[in-house]
Amino acid sequence: SKEDVQAFLKKNAFVLFTVGAVIVGIILGFALRPYRLSYREVKYFSFPGEVLMRMLQMLVLPLLVSSLITGMAALDSKASGKMGMRAVIYYMTTTIIAVFIGIIIVLIIHPGKGSKDEFGKQQTIEQVSPADAFLDLIRNMFPPNLVQACTQQFKTKYGRRKVHVTVTVNDTLFNSTNGTQEVMEITREEVIPVPGQVNGVNALGLVVFSMCFGLIIGNMKEQGQLLRDFFDSLNEAIMSLVAIIMWYAPIGILFLIAGKIVEMDDLTQMGGQLGMYTITVIIGLLIHGVLILPMLYFVITRQNPFIFIAGLLQALVTALGTSSSSATLPVTFKCLEENNKIDKRITRFVLPVGATINMDGTALYEALAAIFIAQVNNMEMNFGQIITISITATAASIGAAGIPQAGLVTMVIVLTSVGLPTDDITLIIAVDWFLDRLRTTTNVLGDSIGAGIVEFLSRHELRSKDVEMGNSVLEE
Ligand code: ASP
Repeated sequence: SKEDVQAFLKKNAFVLFTVGAVIVGIILGFALRPYRLSYREVKYFSFPGEVLMRMLQMLVLPLLVSSLITGMAALDSKASGKMGMRAVIYYMTTTIIAVFIGIIIVLIIHPGKGSKDEFGKQQTIEQVSPADAFLDLIRNMFPPNLVQACTQQFKTKYGRRKVHVTVTVNDTLFNSTNGTQEVMEITREEVIPVPGQVNGVNALGLVVFSMCFGLIIGNMKEQGQLLRDFFDSLNEAIMSLVAIIMWYAPIGILFLIAGKIVEMDDLTQMGGQLGMYTITVIIGLLIHGVLILPMLYFVITRQNPFIFIAGLLQALVTALGTSSSSATLPVTFKCLEENNKIDKRITRFVLPVGATINMDGTALYEALAAIFIAQVNNMEMNFGQIITISITATAASIGAAGIPQAGLVTMVIVLTSVGLPTDDITLIIAVDWFLDRLRTTTNVLGDSIGAGIVEFLSRHELRSKDVEMGNSVLEE
């Protein structure tokens, strides 16, 4: 009836706006492409999107710290130990499943044909040793200076690398008759994001610190009360800010998507191997996100996974728009707590960790991409190498920061581990901005379903804690 429709519209206004924004963004983007806007014009055009990114990122630091501290403080060490165990088992299992899906799909479809000719090659990326990358990961877990960890910018050696750029100058003015091309090589130093860092925030280090700190103040008696109250109230305040920003989100997402479509390269290459590769990645992500994860959720909780996912729509679209699971974190919180009614003690504890280390989409992608690059190079991977790829892809996904295209950077680890040329990352750069959005969406989905599953498995602990709290209230 009419009232039903109205009620539906009212309840889902946010989601409808956001989905509408994506659609309008895509249409607008393609409509503007023929005008061939300059770099500067594209920057101006997508400015409202840039502002959204900045607003969301602004909240990541206080949200991450306050939610983890209050989350840990709200549980006693035994309960949080059990929940932590469940979360870690979930993260590991789903990441490994994702890696295997990636491997199987790429072996079956075999998008790489053993010829590099059709890829225009422009860049050389210098080699980074996997050992350095692993050590950096551990280093980042223990920031020597907490204030610096909040503003840290590309501190380690791994964060800088030399990039040789070959610029092809089509010298039509002087050589129009024979069409000679002039090639020059420039070497410039480029700053790349270090795994575990979110735009200047060492997320991994802050996660480790906040968890320990929360656990400690949770165990303190009266003396800890002030700190518990402080972080609790900080967390509430930040979440209220999130609610305001979400009103702006559809506008920002519209321009983020439209801007990206305006500036993307022509899709002429997409017919060949790169097109097959893109399709392979999409199929892999779909199998994981639409089949495996929902099935897992259903098998464990016996509830309809698609109702659960419907509640997450806003977060998924934000992930698609921002291609950053960290920037999406505030929205993920809102969706899970408000739409899906997940207990705050779970979300506060599971989501920040998930956004930092649990990346199913990235893991699937890294394994798949590595094997694709092997195929393009006409190299057959043996069983041992495939196992190596699955281990390093898992590690690389843990190490990847929740920022745009971080997965591409940590892929160096995977490629080096099996002796594939790291330069060949450039073969897939052209489509990475797009695939990044899809794997980020899968990452956020994985974190959220994890929260649902961990809550279900922890229902006894949560209830007994409620009873205990109820008792103490009565006693007072
Ligand atoms: N952009 C992804 C994320 O934020 C990471 C990646 O590049 O795979 O989750």
